[in-house]
Amino acid sequence: MRFEISKVLDAIEGRVCTDPQLARAVLDLAEIIRYQDLDGGRPASSLRLGMVIDALARSLEEDSVPVYAVVHRGMLSDADLTSNERMVVRRWADDGLVEVLDNPGDRMLEVADLLGLPVLSRVRFDGLRGRFPWLVEQPGRVLAPVPGAGGPVFIAHVGGGHTPVSGPPSPAGAKLLSREWRCPESGCTLFGGAGGGGAFADLARIDRAPTGQPSLRNGVPTCPRHGSRLRDAGPRPRSEVLAVRVGGLIRRRFVLTEDQPVMIGRAPEGSGGIMLGQWLNDEARRWISRNHLRLELRGADVVATDVSTNGSGVRPGGSLAETDRLALAPQQSRVLGTGDMVELYPGVQIGRPNEFPAGAPYNPDSVMSEAPTMAMRLPR
Ligand SMILES: [Zn+2]
Repeated sequence: MRFEISKVLDAIEGRVCTDPQLARAVLDLAEIIRYQDLDGGRPASSLRLGMVIDALARSLEEDSVPVYAVVHRGMLSDADLTSNERMVVRRWADDGLVEVLDNPGDRMLEVADLLGLPVLSRVRFDGLRGRFPWLVEQPGRVLAPVPGAGGPVFIAHVGGGHTPVSGPPSPAGAKLLSREWRCPESGCTLFGGAGGGGAFADLARIDRAPTGQPSLRNGVPTCPRHGSRLRDAGPRPRSEVLAVRVGGLIRRRFVLTEDQPVMIGRAPEGSGGIMLGQWLNDEARRWISRNHLRLELRGADVVATDVSTNGSGVRPGGSLAETDRLALAPQQSRVLGTGDMVELYPGVQIGRPNEFPAGAPYNPDSVMSEAPTMAMRLPR
């Protein structure tokens, strides 16, 4: 059982991040781990984080949806957690995957406000509706995770819906997002210069340098961890969020920057690549090369270069009609226009997540492996 919990925690590790471009919801870890009614288990259990993330994935109909977790410092020594769980959360804190604070206060709502993200919480925040009008104006921005038949489900505090709703970043948030910020404290994992690394760096990690969301104190960008005024390190480098879709389901989003090309394939060499193997059936696995497609950001252009043995296809504007499909031969490059998708194999597609054509068939038999497909399987 202990081993199983470790495996689940490793899987969860790839679903927590403080990257404003990838996080899909905000939550307070200390609150979530105490939802005893989700499983009737121990007073506190970090597995409940996995259950809530799984529910989010089901709700957004997308695999691998990372959450921005705010963590009260006291949780790192919470006696209701096992020593193993405490160790894992400390590791996440050290690697900047979660935001540890001495006094979280309204930080969860601040992050949600700055980034336009939904909040997963049972707290009603009645007294904060003046400061954060979207709490009432946007039904679905705050959802309570509650027990459901097949795991947790969400109920909106306002309007009673079940689906998480994102809004635009607040104007202050949009300004913060356009710049890079550095913390004067040495070794700051949220706004430091270097990556986290650590003994488990090669696990299901979102492979990026730590990058958090500044706090605004009296209008001044501040490190939420250290309370120090952040230094403006210049404009944020250009980047683009892309996604892998297999069998009609978005499996993973990733960030492309000018200095970091991304390799996609069955099992790309080196770090930072997107491995498709676990989502493919035998036939697709034979067709798709170990390194298949290289993506680069050149200025505002996303350039896709086929580096495979068998080649790829391009679906201009996301058209699924066979007559529209263009060949992308080995060693050939193409700038991805609006809506364009690269197809490595029928049903295995790369594109901008918001531009994927709707209604693509979800066909487990054609490209899916037998491996678990949703975010993770949890012991019940
Ligand atoms: Zn700091």
